[in-house]
Amino acid sequence: MSTSIEKITPYDEFNFLIPEDEFPKDGMSARAAAGIVISAEWTDANPMLNMSSFVTTWAEPEAAETAKRNIFKNYIDHDMYPQVFAMETRMVKWLHQLWNGPKEAEPYGTATVGSSEACMLAGLAHKWNWRKHREAEGKDVSRPNMVTGGNVQVVWKKFLRYFDVEPRIVPLSPGNYRLTAESLDKYVDENTIAVVAIAGQTFTGEDDDIQGIHDWLDDYEKRTGISIPMHIDGASGGFVNPFLYPDYKWDFRLPRVQSINASGHKYGLVPPGLGWIIFRERKVFNEDLVFYVNYLGGEMPTATLNFSRNAFQVAVQYYMFLRHGFEGYRRIMQHTLDNAIALRGILVDSGYFTVMNEAQRIPVVAVTLDSKIKNFNEFDVSNKVREKGWVLAAYSMPPNAEAVTSLRVVVRPHINLNVAKLLADDIVDACKFLEKHGGNAAPPTLHAHAAATSTKC
Ligand SMILES: *Cc1c(COP(=O)(O)O)cnc(C)c1O
Repeated sequence: MSTSIEKITPYDEFNFLIPEDEFPKDGMSARAAAGIVISAEWTDANPMLNMSSFVTTWAEPEAAETAKRNIFKNYIDHDMYPQVFAMETRMVKWLHQLWNGPKEAEPYGTATVGSSEACMLAGLAHKWNWRKHREAEGKDVSRPNMVTGGNVQVVWKKFLRYFDVEPRIVPLSPGNYRLTAESLDKYVDENTIAVVAIAGQTFTGEDDDIQGIHDWLDDYEKRTGISIPMHIDGASGGFVNPFLYPDYKWDFRLPRVQSINASGHKYGLVPPGLGWIIFRERKVFNEDLVFYVNYLGGEMPTATLNFSRNAFQVAVQYYMFLRHGFEGYRRIMQHTLDNAIALRGILVDSGYFTVMNEAQRIPVVAVTLDSKIKNFNEFDVSNKVREKGWVLAAYSMPPNAEAVTSLRVVVRPHINLNVAKLLADDIVDACKFLEKHGGNAAPPTLHAHAAATSTKC
C-alpha cells in the first residue's frame, strides 16, 4: 500500500469498508469523511416526504442561520448565555398568555428537549403535589395512579413505568378513539395524581373531550371532596388550537388544567429538539423538584431532566415567534388545515377510504380502507406509495380498537396544496393498482405493533 498521496483521489479514499465492530483506527481527510457520511444519508427517507412525522422539516434560511450561530451554546449555562435564558423566560410568559393562563398568576415553565421531557416534568409535579397533599392528611401515599386514554403517546407509558405510577388507561373502541368522561368512574379515585387529556392526538388528530372530563371531575369533587388536576398534552394541539379555535376552551381557561405541554418542534415550527412545559402558576411545580446548582460559574435553579443540551432550538423558536406573530401562525395553521381537508376530500371521493374522524382539529388525515375492499390493506398502500418516495404510517389502533387499521398523513406547513394533491393522487393510484393486482402485506404481529406505536411521533 504505497500509493503516493498525490495519486489518491476521492474515489480511492471513499472506497473502503467502514469497520463494524472496531473504533476507526486512523483518521481520513475531511472530504473523505464527509463523503462517507453523505453516502450513508442517500438511502434515508427524504424528511420532506415523511408524512408520518409531526416534526418540522423545513425552515427559512434566517431560521437555519439562527440555528447555526447558536449551535455551540449550551442551553443550561445561563450564566454565560443570559440572553438565551432571557428569550426562554419571555417565551414562557408568552405561552402562558397564549394558553390563557390567569393574569394574576406568576407564569412558570421551561423549554425542554421535546414534549417527552415536558410530560415527565408535569407528571412529576403532579405526583409530588398529590403526595404532599396526602401526607398532610395522614393518608397512604404508596399507590399513586394516573388516568389517560388508550390513545396516549408512548411518553406517558414511559412516565408511568419509569416513575412508578400505576397506569389507568381507558381503552378505546372501534369508532371511538378518544378519552371521554364516560367511564371515568371506573378509573379515577383518591390516588389519581392527574387525568391527562390530549389536544391533537397522534392517531386521528382529535382532541379528547377536555371540557367533558373537566366537568366530570368537578362533579366528582362535589360528590367526594377529592380534587383532581388535569394535564393537557398539547404536543401538537398547543400550537394549533390557540390560532384556529380561539373560542374553544381546552387550556388554562378551565380551572382544573394545571399544566400544558407542547412540542416546539411540531407545529411550533422549530427543527427537532424543543418542547415546552407551562404551569398554570408557579406553585404547581413543586419546589422540591428544583435544584440550585453552583456550577459553570453561578448559583442557578435547574428543573429539567437534562442538564447540557443545545440552545439553538430556543433561539430559533424566538425567531419564529417574532417572525410570524399570532397572525402569521394563524395563517400558517389555516392553510395547513385547508390542505389537509383537501387531501382528505380526494381520498374519500375516490371511494376507497372512510375517514376515521370528521372532527379532527390538527391537520392530520386518518383514514381507513372501506370495508368492501378485501384484496389489499393499508400496509400495502403504505408500501406502494413508498415507491414514489412518500412515507406514510399505517398501523393498527391501540386496544380495544386493534381491529381497525389506519393510514395516517400528517400534513405540515411545508406541504402546499399542489403537493397535497399530488400525494392524494399517488395514494389513489396505488389503490387502483392494488385493486387490480392484489396486495400481500401481512398485518403486523402484536409485537410489531408495539414497536410501531412506540416509535410514533
Ligand atoms: C409527539 C407527541 C409526544 C412526544 O413528544 P416529543 O416532542 O416527540 O418528545 C407526546 N404526546 C403527544 C400527543 C405527541 O403528539
